[in-house]
Formats: sequence, C-alpha cells, structure tokens
Amino acid sequence: MTIQDNLQIIGERLHHAEQRFQRPLNSVQLVAVSKFHPIESIQAAYDAGQRAFGENYVQEMVAKAQALAEYSDLEWHFIGPLQANKTKLVAETAHWMHTLERLKIAERLSQQRPMNYPDLNVCLQVNLSSEATKSGLQPDEVFNLAKQVQALPRLKLRGLMAIPAPEPDFERQCAVFAQLRRLLEELNQQGFALDTLSMGMSDDMEAAVAEGATIVRIGTAIFGQRPKAVTE
Ligand SMILES: *Cc1c(COP(=O)(O)O)cnc(C)c1O
Repeated sequence: MTIQDNLQIIGERLHHAEQRFQRPLNSVQLVAVSKFHPIESIQAAYDAGQRAFGENYVQEMVAKAQALAEYSDLEWHFIGPLQANKTKLVAETAHWMHTLERLKIAERLSQQRPMNYPDLNVCLQVNLSSEATKSGLQPDEVFNLAKQVQALPRLKLRGLMAIPAPEPDFERQCAVFAQLRRLLEELNQQGFALDTLSMGMSDDMEAAVAEGATIVRIGTAIFGQRPKAVTE
C-alpha cells in the first residue's frame, strides 16, 4: 500500500464516519502525523493532496518545514510537548499548536509570534480521566488558562485537544471523547466561541468523529509503522 492509497482509505473512513454520525460532510480536518517519517513521505502525501501535517518534535518540524519551504500551502501542526526554550521555533514555524498547557508557554508564543504572521491557532491540551500520562490540564484548570490565553495577542484560542490512553472498545472510546466535547460546550456556554476539538488517532478515529472531533491526527494509518525514534 502506498501513502496515496492509505490517504484515500482514510479519506473514505472519514467520510463514512461523518455520514454515519450525522456530521456535515468535510467538517473533520485530517492532520497527517509525519513524525519520524522522512521528507519523501511528506512529499508523497502532498502530491496526493494532503496539506496539514503534524509533528511532535520541534527540531524535526523546523527541519522539515525548511526542506519543504517551496510548498507554501503546507500547514504545520505542532502536537508534542513544548519546552520554554523552544517556543520561538514553534512561533516562527507552526500554523497550529495543539498541546498548550502552561501560561508561560502561551506568553512566550504570543511574544515570539512574528508580527507579520497570522495569529497562531492554539488548543489547550486536557488530561482526561483515562490518561496514563501527566501531560495536559485537569478539566477544572481549563477555564482559567482559556481566559488568560484568550487575552494574549497573536494567539487565537481555537479549542481543546486530548490524547486518551489506547482503548479497544468503541463505546468506551466515545465516553472519553464525550468528556472533551462537554468541556468545550461548557466553555462556549461561559462565553467562549471555540470551534475545535482535536481528538482521534488511527485506532479511535470513528469514535472521535462520533463525539464531535473537528481535527483528527492520523499517523500510522497513512505513513505505516514509524521508524524507530532517533530523538527519543
Ligand atoms: C503520534 C501521534 C498521533 C498519531 O498516532 P497514530 O496512532 O500513529 O495515528 C496523533 N497525535 C499525537 C499527539 C501523536 O503524538
């Protein structure tokens, strides 16, 4: 199977899920997670029409963005943990930052976003009840950080992101994603106008679409198994 074949299959899976769960057609954006995959793989996906790519490591994203600078309509989504000393690279490279969880990082991104760039789209990462990792805000911390981020120039708060622990059961996948959807609904009831739920990966994409995902982040189902991590 080529990357082009995989993209076609994922596109069909997405469309089926949109229909099955009464979501408007094309309401879910596909971010192709290209971490650890070579430039040639991104190029192959680009040639097949894919424009949004997700990366977890700052230097890797920057190197790829530089190598592919001639493709001016590529959209880079940063989806990994971000340390304060690397915020400038993200502010200067990314179109989206999905994993915001600290005010200090938000302030630096705001200061370092070049004046002539469009606002950096950001999502707050939430740690849902099922998660094994320590990343992400507790649900009761989200409102305060959302208020603070909303007040910062050059950032555009778009919504919430989560990475639930792997879970094979569809109904249980849905129950976890529903927590993130309800949290977004609560924020909007409290006066925010957020439009993004970044949730769903190769193995739980359908459940995420059922619960309102507007961005799914798919790696393996497009690019195959990841080569062994060099950066880890
Ligand atoms: C690696 C990664 C993905 C893609 O996961 P797959 O299971 O390969 O589809 C999505 N989101 C985040 C945050 C990731 O780190």
